[in-house]
Amino acid sequence: MFNFIFNENFLLHKSTFSHVENPDRMTAILSGIEKDELLKSKLNFIPSGKATDENILLAHSEAHYENVKNKIDAGVTMLDDGDTYACQDSFDVALTAVGSVLKGVDDAIQNKNNSFCAVRPPGHHAESNKAMGFCIFSNVAVGAKYALEKYKLDRIAIFDWDVHHGNGTQEIFYDSNKILFTSIQQHPLWPGTGMANERGIGKGENYTLNFPVPPATDGKIYLSLLREKIIPAFHNFSPDLIFISAGFDAHKDDPISEINLIENDYSEMTKYLRDIAEHKNIQIISVLEGGYNLDALSNSVNSHLRVLAE
Ligand SMILES: [Zn+2]
Repeated sequence: MFNFIFNENFLLHKSTFSHVENPDRMTAILSGIEKDELLKSKLNFIPSGKATDENILLAHSEAHYENVKNKIDAGVTMLDDGDTYACQDSFDVALTAVGSVLKGVDDAIQNKNNSFCAVRPPGHHAESNKAMGFCIFSNVAVGAKYALEKYKLDRIAIFDWDVHHGNGTQEIFYDSNKILFTSIQQHPLWPGTGMANERGIGKGENYTLNFPVPPATDGKIYLSLLREKIIPAFHNFSPDLIFISAGFDAHKDDPISEINLIENDYSEMTKYLRDIAEHKNIQIISVLEGGYNLDALSNSVNSHLRVLAE
């Protein structure tokens, strides 16, 4: 059984001004699935609940949690210097985004099911102590910490294929040898981190693997990095669980970046991850991050899900 974890309140997080990260992204994903009856028939649609404050504090400081809560309660509409907006519903929505991932973790461990969490706001730029880049809490980082703590897992591998570097996830796990964080991202591009020499510190040294690629990179390069670097690292690390930070903004039609992936590249990348998960008899939790051309987003999500739900 393959879960599609979603909550209608993801449509409530919106900006008062025009913004690429908006509820139309969810609507596009849902209507894309509606149009593919075979895919739809393979998905187990489950609603997500909300994460608790205790859950959030697994990966974030109390100061960050309180700061976000207080600002949103007070009606503040911008949580950082300029691109992480909020509205009155955003705190609940952000807790529900994390809650989706926790649901995916519970079902992965208890029932051996894989999940796609179609969440907003995205998470991979949110650091332990700050909201950033449209992200309020790091959905994947809280999920990974929850899996380590609640289920006493030893090792979790994350692959972040969003076109932007997952600076938040990296920062939260930079000194950990329990999380292998791997990422391919366009460079140069905001937020500017994710250089190959950022490899972790202390016990976490060599548990962060960054693969910056230049504008105009295509799927062949992504697939060769997976085949030659990332999948071998996963084999070495032997994870108990895999997370994908699944942004779809490296698509050639995405308006805010310059990488040239096509839908089929997302299928091929997913196959590598599915194969290693099957080989090791472990589960995958894929969590939506970016993706801002609505057609490219919807088609790429379908390509990704067709492989995971096979
Ligand atoms: Zn992105």
